[in-house]
Amino acid sequence: MSKKVNIFWFRRDLRLDDNLGFYEALKSDLPVLPIFIFDTEILEHLPKDDARVTFIHQTLQTMRQTLQEDYNSSIAILHGKPEVIFKQLIEDYDIDTVYTNHDYEPYATQRDNTIKTFLEKHSIAFNTYKDQVIFEKNEVEKKDGNPYLVYTPYMRTWKEKFQAIELEIYYTKSHLDNLVCHSRLPNLSLSDIGFEKSNQEITDYEVTPTLIQTYEATRNFPAKDSTSRLGPHLRFGTVSIRKMVKKAIAEQNEIFWQELIWREFFMQILWHFPQTTTNAFKPKYDRIEWRNNEDEFKKWCEGKTGYPLVDAGMRQLNSTGFMHNRVRMLVGSFLCKHLLIDWRWGEAYFAEKLHDYDMASNVGNWQWVAGCGVDAAPYFRIFNPTTQIQKFDKNHDYLKQWVPEYQELTYPQPMVDHKMARERCLETYKTALT
Ligand code: FAD
Repeated sequence: MSKKVNIFWFRRDLRLDDNLGFYEALKSDLPVLPIFIFDTEILEHLPKDDARVTFIHQTLQTMRQTLQEDYNSSIAILHGKPEVIFKQLIEDYDIDTVYTNHDYEPYATQRDNTIKTFLEKHSIAFNTYKDQVIFEKNEVEKKDGNPYLVYTPYMRTWKEKFQAIELEIYYTKSHLDNLVCHSRLPNLSLSDIGFEKSNQEITDYEVTPTLIQTYEATRNFPAKDSTSRLGPHLRFGTVSIRKMVKKAIAEQNEIFWQELIWREFFMQILWHFPQTTTNAFKPKYDRIEWRNNEDEFKKWCEGKTGYPLVDAGMRQLNSTGFMHNRVRMLVGSFLCKHLLIDWRWGEAYFAEKLHDYDMASNVGNWQWVAGCGVDAAPYFRIFNPTTQIQKFDKNHDYLKQWVPEYQELTYPQPMVDHKMARERCLETYKTALT
C-alpha cells in the first residue's frame, strides 16, 4: 500500500480555483489525490450522446492536462457506483480523509450518507463544504425558524445576511504543489463509459460589465440572446458562484444579482421539501385531472403545436440544449394549461434536453408555471401564446430563426383553440382546487 493521502472528490465543482473543498484538502498536511467518478447510477438514465457528459469529460481532460503540465499530477477518472469505487480506493491507498463539496439533491444526499458511513467504518473522515451557493440549506430563514416560501422576503434577508459577511475567494494556486506526484492516474474515454461525443456544445458563459449593465433592458427578448449563459457552468461548477456574485455587485445591477438569488431560493426549497421532485408543493394541485394526451405531448416536444413562439422555443431546446427563459415560461404554461398535461412530463423532458438542467431550478420553475409550487404564478394566469409574440418578439426575429415556415401553408394550424383551452383549464383547475 502507498503512503497516506487525502482524497478530493470532484462532483459538480469542476474547477481548480476558488473551490472550497479542494482548497481545504490542499491545505491539509497530506498529499491530495483528486478523483472524479462517472457514477453509473446517474449515467444509466442519460442518452448516449448526452452533451452534458461530453462537457464533463472534456472539462476533466483540460483540468488533468493543466495538472500534468504544471504540477506533475492529475485527476483519477473512475467509473462505477461510488460505493464500489470507494471499496477499491481503500484497498489501493492509505486514506486519511475524503474531502468534497455539498450537493443538496435528494439522490446526492443519500449517496453521501452511504459513503460517509462506509468511510467512518474504516476510520476515514468525510469532510464536506459549502461551495456551490452563497447561502445553503437553512442559512436564510424566517425569524420563526421556518423556511421562506416567498421569493421577495427571502431575497431581502439573503441580501441583509450578505452585507454582514466578508465574501472570500479561495485561491488555490499556491497550494497545488500539495497534490500527489503522479501524472498517470487512470483516465477513461467517453466510449469507455458507454457514451459518444455529442454534436451539441455547451456555450461559454459571458459575464461582461456590458452584459450585466444592459441585462435588465434586454433579458426578456429571446432574439437578443443577451443573457449570461451561466446556467450549465453554475450547474457543473466550471465557474464559481462567489466570483459571479462579486461581479454582479461590482456592476451594481440588482436584477442580475437577484437572478442568482432565485437559484438559491429554489435550492433551499428542494433541500427543505425533497418531496417536491415528484409532488406538488401545494397538495391540492395533485388533484388536477390532467388530460395527458400522448400525441399532443409529442407535438409539443417536437415544436409542432401551430403556435409559432411555443414551437420556436421547443425547437431551440431540441437543437441547442438551451431555451430562453421568457419562452420557457410560455412553453411550460402552454403544456400545463392549454394542453392540461402534467407538469412532471414537461419537467422530465427539460431534464433530458437542457444543458443547464438543475433539479432544484427545474422543479421549482415548473411548479411555478403550473401554479402548484411555492410563490407560484396564480392558476388563472394563462399566457396567450399569440400576444406574447407582440410583447417579446415584435419583429419576429426569433420566430424567423427557429420556425422559418411559420407563415407558409405547410405550417400546422394551432393544435388547440386558445379561448377554448383557457376556459377548459380554468374549469379543470377550479374543480380540483375547490
Ligand atoms: P441569466 O438570465 O443570465 O441568469 C443568470 C443565472 O441566474 C442563471 O444561469 C441561473 O443560474 C439563475 N437564474 C436565472 N433565472 C432563474 C430562475 N427563474 N430560477 C432559478 N435560477 C435562475 N434554470 C436552470 O438553471 N436550470 C433549469 O433546469 C431550469 N429550468 C427551468 C424550467 C422552466 C419551466 C423555467 C420557466 C425556467 C427554468 N430555469 C432553469 C430558469 C431560467 O430559465 C434559466 O436559469 C436561464 O434561462 C438560464 O439562462 P442564463 O444562464 O443565460 O440565465
